[in-house]
Amino acid sequence: GVTKRTPLIAGNWKMNLDHLQAVALVQKLHWALKDAKHEDGSVEVAVFPPFTDLRSVQTLLDADKIAFTLGAQDLSTHDEGAYTGEISGAFLKKLAVSQVIIGHSERREYHAETDEVVAAKVQAALRHELVPVICVGETSEDLEKHGASAVPVAQLEKAIAGVPADAEIVVAYEPVWAIGSGQAATPQQAQEVCAKLREVLADRLGADTAARTRVLYGGSVKAANIASFMREPDVDGALVGGASIKVDEFASIIRFEK
Ligand code: PGA
Repeated sequence: GVTKRTPLIAGNWKMNLDHLQAVALVQKLHWALKDAKHEDGSVEVAVFPPFTDLRSVQTLLDADKIAFTLGAQDLSTHDEGAYTGEISGAFLKKLAVSQVIIGHSERREYHAETDEVVAAKVQAALRHELVPVICVGETSEDLEKHGASAVPVAQLEKAIAGVPADAEIVVAYEPVWAIGSGQAATPQQAQEVCAKLREVLADRLGADTAARTRVLYGGSVKAANIASFMREPDVDGALVGGASIKVDEFASIIRFEK
């Protein structure tokens, strides 16, 4: 049968916007999206603010009944204890966070996150009923040496080892060379790799899980190219960085028409 996947447009704010700016952005975005598709549930919108903004954003979403999903950008592999500077999945869950980005290339590169750490974070997220948004992607060197899909496929296989078939996860294909570069992948390349990642899901977690799991593209997504990605059958949405903290641009991305 045909499984319909709700498109997910996710805004990764990275280390931008203090809690006052965060509240202002969410408020403006909400106004800009009056009558937009997410109001009827046909598109899911998620925002991933820095940790220090989560409480303020959560309070606003709750008070104004704004239908955005709240996400965090990272979590600890541990649940509590003597881990200075870490934030546990348990704390995130208590703030009504429901998704968490794991394995973003900036964490892999600047914080030496290995595939083992990524897998442990996926397990930590699932322990607290948080949906892991698992990021995978190749560098330009990988692309030259191995083609586009080999590295993301291997990263995903390791990240989902031990994930039960009935878990909800999201996968984000983010070529490292496309992130913040203005140089997005072509829709064809995104489709090709997203289809391969879906095959990994089918192989490891079963056909049903593969059919219902959202696979996103990320890397220089903007209003002008979102539709071309969304036309691809295995691209179920986007993980948006730079364009997600510009109100009109992000609102236009959410209002994409295929
Ligand atoms: P970008 O970032 O949209 O600014 O390229 C995407 C990401 O890092 O998730």
